[in-house]
Amino acid sequence: MLAAAGYRKAVGDFDAVVAGGGPNGLAAALRLAEAGWSVCLVEANHDVGGSARTLECTLPGFRHDLGAGFLALAMGSPAIAGRDLAALGLRFRHAPLPAAHPLPGGRAIALGRSTGQTAASIGRIHAGDAAVWEELDQRFGDAIVRLLHAGMVRWPLADAARLLGRLGVRNLLELGWLMMQAAAPSPTGSPLRRRGRS
Ligand SMILES: Cc1cc2nc3c(=O)[nH]c(=O)nc-3n(C[C@H](O)[C@H](O)[C@H](O)COP(=O)(O)OP(=O)(O)OC[C@H]3O[C@@H](n4cnc5c(N)ncnc54)[C@H](O)[C@@H]3O)c2cc1C
Repeated sequence: MLAAAGYRKAVGDFDAVVAGGGPNGLAAALRLAEAGWSVCLVEANHDVGGSARTLECTLPGFRHDLGAGFLALAMGSPAIAGRDLAALGLRFRHAPLPAAHPLPGGRAIALGRSTGQTAASIGRIHAGDAAVWEELDQRFGDAIVRLLHAGMVRWPLADAARLLGRLGVRNLLELGWLMMQAAAPSPTGSPLRRRGRS
């Protein structure tokens, strides 16, 4: 990155100027640099990362994800896969509980870093749903990873073929149904619970 002074003078010396050091700007600059271009990345903030930065932005000592709450997509992104970005300073910081959904009455369901941790949290809210969560994870956990990866590559056919091979048509349709259910209003209880009863 260039300091503001000298910016005008130096910019013309580069093959490309990328404005903004968020995830997209960094990915673009990386690809251009790998293709042999000289790249100038300009960033208005003091550090790069954009909305994907971790910042101490509420109380001293409390660090927050500014934009991204789930790092799974970034970690699996083909834009950075296979590159030793840790050597350049990239570090993923993982909270003990990545996310929580508050519920009335001071309760919450927390997403843990293991299936068991998440299941236990769900079980404290809806008895019986912990086992359903574990069953769903066993059946569809790997498939979701492939599904997410398929959404990030230009030609997702290999992912689609592996997904079909792993699940079969019936389970694939059930997964699609389940994903749509999760977004639907739930008058009869949680989608997990209804899934468990079916
Ligand atoms: C509330 C919220 C939750 C989110 N949750 C997730 C999530 O869970 N998982 C996930 O993967 N994504 C999540 N996102 C999305 C993710 O943060 C964005 O997709 C990502 O940050 C977009 O990257 P970007 O580079 O396009 O833009 P940004 O991250 O916004 O970066 C833009 C950068 O450009 C700089 N800039 C702008 N104009 C100029 C200029 N003229 N000169 C120099 N610098 C400039 C800015 O300072 C900034 O650093 C979330 C976003 C929000 C807001």
